Amino acid sequence: MRLKRAVRFGARLPVLFYRHYRNLDRPLVTCTISTLEKDDSRLAAELSRRDGRRRDTGYTAAFEQEFAGRNGSRFAFSFASARSALSAAIAAVGLDPGDEVLVPGYTCVVVANAFTFAGMTPVFADIELETFGLDAGQMEGRITPRTRAVLLQHLYGLVCRDYEKILAIAGKHGLKVIEDCAQATGAEFRGVKIGNRGDAAIYSSEQSKIINTIQGGLAVTNDNAIADRLREFQNTRPYPADDLVRRQLANVRLHYLQYESPHRWLVSSPAEALLGKQRLESTTEDELRGRRPPLYGQRMAPAVAALGLNQLRKMERFNEKRRQNSSRWDRWCDGHGFGRATVIPGSRPVFLRYPVLVTPEMKSEREWARRELGVEAGVWFVSNLHPSALPVSGCGNADIAVRQCINLPTLGIS
Ligand SMILES: *Cc1c(COP(=O)(O)O)cnc(C)c1O
Repeated sequence: MRLKRAVRFGARLPVLFYRHYRNLDRPLVTCTISTLEKDDSRLAAELSRRDGRRRDTGYTAAFEQEFAGRNGSRFAFSFASARSALSAAIAAVGLDPGDEVLVPGYTCVVVANAFTFAGMTPVFADIELETFGLDAGQMEGRITPRTRAVLLQHLYGLVCRDYEKILAIAGKHGLKVIEDCAQATGAEFRGVKIGNRGDAAIYSSEQSKIINTIQGGLAVTNDNAIADRLREFQNTRPYPADDLVRRQLANVRLHYLQYESPHRWLVSSPAEALLGKQRLESTTEDELRGRRPPLYGQRMAPAVAALGLNQLRKMERFNEKRRQNSSRWDRWCDGHGFGRATVIPGSRPVFLRYPVLVTPEMKSEREWARRELGVEAGVWFVSNLHPSALPVSGCGNADIAVRQCINLPTLGIS
């Protein structure tokens, strides 16, 4: 009798496994799927074990050089995050306390924070609803005698619609331009990588960005004097403490096991039990309230640069995949009456995510995406200064995007 039951159970096992796999795997086509692969996870484990390699500053120099080369920029400097790189860029382009800066009213809270931490005043200007960048037509009305700079932001891996117009208006008014390329590393306009037209630009390797080192960022420039000041700024910053570095390395392994591994349906829970306590948050409570956190503004640890170097080598392959996969969402938009993501003439986007303006109901309740598309719909941005509740007024299009812009993943689908 018992044998018979065991045989029957055994026969059912493939079915149970299939159900388990299907149910677990489908919802895991999430926005968290990134560019981490087995070799990145292995590298993180090895760096964690070997103190000498973890502290080898040769990686930092190699990463910066490789990034600058691939980006077509003369100089690149690495930091613990793009927000820290932005703080460096603010100092390096010569902005001072009391200066005003034009910032799109649809950005990350850490972007606005970098300016307020420097004693500056961000003046928010509205965006356009095609690429969700700053609307050039909204700039001049907000320029005062104290305005010294503009933050030119490229979102979702798209090149922003008013790229050249913003540069022209900035030129006319003598404003410094810092390009925020945190979501668009590798995108091109007229054959030139974005980030090379302003005075300086920032990039991110945070876990939701184009390359993933869990946390990390760079500032680039093509100007000798700005490069000197970026270098000086970087040299005055401490390296993160070793326990934090090892924690970040553990996060690489955790991320891989939970979101990228082909066995994630099986290993996700054990990984959580083993490494979950070390999970790093990208933005602290202080930052959400607009306050400077204690460890703000460090430089990049050599071990993180080693991971960055490994990630850079696969960036173009993943960006090509993202571009190809975006056509699925083009077709979906066409078939459902939604506007396609806008690719401005002459641009080559990288589609970090595929933005779509849907109804407010579709943004607030996103079960339909799992059900109908088999993917998780992302919510960048949930607020004007994402993800904080800090208010921004007078940016009507930004408010529409906050209510209606979702984004669809471009990795892990086909
Ligand atoms: C993520 C992001 C940043 C900040 O990057 P970190 O590396 O997390 O500091 C800045 N700007 C934009 C548009 C971003 O998406």
